[in-house]
Amino acid sequence: MEVKCPLCGGGPCSAIEDSLDPVTGRRWTFARCAACGAEFSDPMENPGPEWYAKAAMYKEDACRSGEAAGVRAGIFLRLGLPKGTRLLDVGCGTGEFLALAGKAGYSDCSGIDFSSDQIRLARELSGLKDVSVSSLDDFAPGHAGSFDFISAFEVLEHQADPADFIEKLKKMLVPGGVLMLSMPNAARPLLFGGREGWDFPPHHLTRWTAPRLDRFLAAHGLERVLLEDSALGEEQVYNQLLGVKADEAVKAAVAAVKKLFFGERGAAPADQLAATGGGVAGLLKFRAARRLPVTALKLFLRALVLPVSLPLLLYYLARGHRGIALVAVYKVK
Ligand SMILES: [Zn+2]
Repeated sequence: MEVKCPLCGGGPCSAIEDSLDPVTGRRWTFARCAACGAEFSDPMENPGPEWYAKAAMYKEDACRSGEAAGVRAGIFLRLGLPKGTRLLDVGCGTGEFLALAGKAGYSDCSGIDFSSDQIRLARELSGLKDVSVSSLDDFAPGHAGSFDFISAFEVLEHQADPADFIEKLKKMLVPGGVLMLSMPNAARPLLFGGREGWDFPPHHLTRWTAPRLDRFLAAHGLERVLLEDSALGEEQVYNQLLGVKADEAVKAAVAAVKKLFFGERGAAPADQLAATGGGVAGLLKFRAARRLPVTALKLFLRALVLPVSLPLLLYYLARGHRGIALVAVYKVK
């Protein structure tokens, strides 16, 4: 391949797979750099907000990550940063992480996201004031040295220029400022080699493991504070089993259960629920109640596939596979 590695500028790079984007019908190639081990899309091209609006997996409930936000907030709190820390969450979505930080006493919380729907929900559901619809390119120049802590969860792998992205975040931090990133771990097991749909371009333009990420961030002059990949568990193997073969059937079952217990409102997407009004507290209560029968359904299905998922989990563990979540905390020197 003629292409140069977008992470280290070196090579040689060789194609490792081809894929088809079902939204546009366009073909993409994924490549690996022999020099630094980076895995990246050719071309490195972010499809823009219109594409994300069309791609079903980023809509409604799918993009709300309450559980993941709790885990990330737990790691953030363990850092023990002073309460006056100025926080920025890049790609803040509906604002769960910032809301949790706010609850823990961090009052200087800002967020940006390019989706106006997500920012509206961040205001309505998470009660955040200082969140705005903006791209990093528009926001960064006016905010040099403005933050003590910047997080970007599940964002790096979408960037067309990861090196430029990291440099922009660094410039917005004070010296000694802290950067926290998360992304899917490429060292997770793949069922029969079947990668999840979201892991192909133009969703994800790069794939990361802990050593790859560490090399990349160190090359940008950042100092490691913490680099964690999650342990592999039975739930992830279950998600993988039903994710590859029966995703649509499970989604339909979940929708049917929501409708059975809560009627039409139960089956409505999260953003339409918000629009029906009735106060934030009432809405959150309803959403929590709506999750209960779905959780019960999931536990039932997990028990059902246990005879398959358990031996598979043991096999994966024996091969040294890790869980799906990769979290990094690095410091500006
Ligand atoms: Zn490289």
